[in-house]
Amino acid sequence: LLQLYAPLNFLGSIYSSIRNSLVDLEHMLGLLDETVEVVDPAHPLPIAARLHDAPPVSVEFRDVHFGYRRDREILHGVSFTVPPGKMVAIVGPTGAGKSTISRLLFRFYDTWSGQILIDGHDVRDYRQADLRAAIGVVPQDTVLFNDTIGYNIAYGRLGATEAEIEHAARLAQVHDFIMSLPEGYATRVGERGLKLSGGEKQRVAIARTILKDPRLLILDEATSALDTHTEREIQAALGAVSAERTTVVIAHRLSTVVDADEILVLAGGLVRERGRHADLVARGGLYAAMWAAQDAGQTPDVTAESVAHTV
Ligand code: ATP
Repeated sequence: LLQLYAPLNFLGSIYSSIRNSLVDLEHMLGLLDETVEVVDPAHPLPIAARLHDAPPVSVEFRDVHFGYRRDREILHGVSFTVPPGKMVAIVGPTGAGKSTISRLLFRFYDTWSGQILIDGHDVRDYRQADLRAAIGVVPQDTVLFNDTIGYNIAYGRLGATEAEIEHAARLAQVHDFIMSLPEGYATRVGERGLKLSGGEKQRVAIARTILKDPRLLILDEATSALDTHTEREIQAALGAVSAERTTVVIAHRLSTVVDADEILVLAGGLVRERGRHADLVARGGLYAAMWAAQDAGQTPDVTAESVAHTV
């Protein structure tokens, strides 16, 4: 019986990490209690998950219409392209449909009409598990497991070496913080351990994603205001994870989008403006109004209601 104990215990811990990871994924995308209706194709196309094994992906939304309920369309024909390795930022008032775009990329739902293409193929041609393995998400609010901070990073790619974990933590600007903890990487965090601040948790999530090395990155920026120092550290961490990687940013602070290759201003389920920061400011439209409001310190959050009124 004793001989059976170790393998059973091992299986138990695998089961619990799989269950945790599903809960984490669902939680980060706000999907708990929702039914998922998408089905895998009979003959799925292969897709490499890691950037290490393949170049960055291209992403295209082609006239996408979608709603959660039949009687309410949320996206009314959204089109945009993210070339391999580039960054597209989506800004717009609350309820515009920004997070909906990231859920569709993950294929948590199918579009009503139009297409979502990754590497030139419809997301419906891939197996869901493969698609999700190829996409990394840095969510607004990361769920930390009741485990060590090292495990919380390693979970991005179970089996990573200590050196790889530390390298990811350094890139994510969280290594020095971890070293200042009483037990370093072995410090327990989460509900039953040390509580981390929003900025620290987000950098752990970034380190986790650097380790996962996905070909497509979705950053769902935290809405909470950050102090200048934290903001700078997060910016540097985001720079490290998005470099050379196809990135879609759901942006709440305009400081993140200034360097994006293209900014989409989404309002009322439609892309109202698109372009680079300087062009959009010069155009004097919606984006320029958001920028002026943020600059004047009226609203640090580009999703604020005041912007909705200008639409
Ligand atoms: P925010 O900046 O506030 O996060 P957002 O632009 O990301 O907003 P979405 O979360 O994409 O907006 O929501 C777009 C619209 O879809 C909203 O009106 C929202 O109420 C609705 N919605 C979002 N999720 C669901 C759902 N699971 N079921 C029904 N309606 C939903």
